[in-house]
Amino acid sequence: MDCILCKIAAGEIKSEIIYQDQDIFVIKDINPQAPTHLLILPVEHYANLGEVADKAPELLTALFAKGADLGRQIAGERGFRVVINTGPDGGQTVDHLHLHLLAGRELQWPPG
Ligand code: 5GP
Ligand code: ZN
Repeated sequence: MDCILCKIAAGEIKSEIIYQDQDIFVIKDINPQAPTHLLILPVEHYANLGEVADKAPELLTALFAKGADLGRQIAGERGFRVVINTGPDGGQTVDHLHLHLLAGRELQWPPG
């Protein structure tokens, strides 16, 4: 499958890995939108939030728990944002489910 994030998970494409276990891994976004911009994702390929919710909902707990963990570690009381873009209107550009963890600046809302 021609998926950039599967290739990173398999070690075929180099990326800075922040965390890895058998189910999930965390990398730095190549085009950071905040001083901290991490991607938290499953090793296994799921195209989007709907597919993982249908096929492996327990993974969502692990992914969000890792987001909470890292967000608190990195940003402390300042806070952070965890988001999942889904589909074209949601702004998804890579079809391998991932959470964005953004921190290190005051983020705006609504996101535009
Ligand atoms: P989406 O737009 O699907 O929510 O998020 C995709 C994210 O993947 C974008 O923030 C983009 O910068 C990031 N990205 C795309 N290609 C690569 C890559 O090869 N390596 C890394 N580390 N991030 C990537
Ligand atoms: Zn993939």
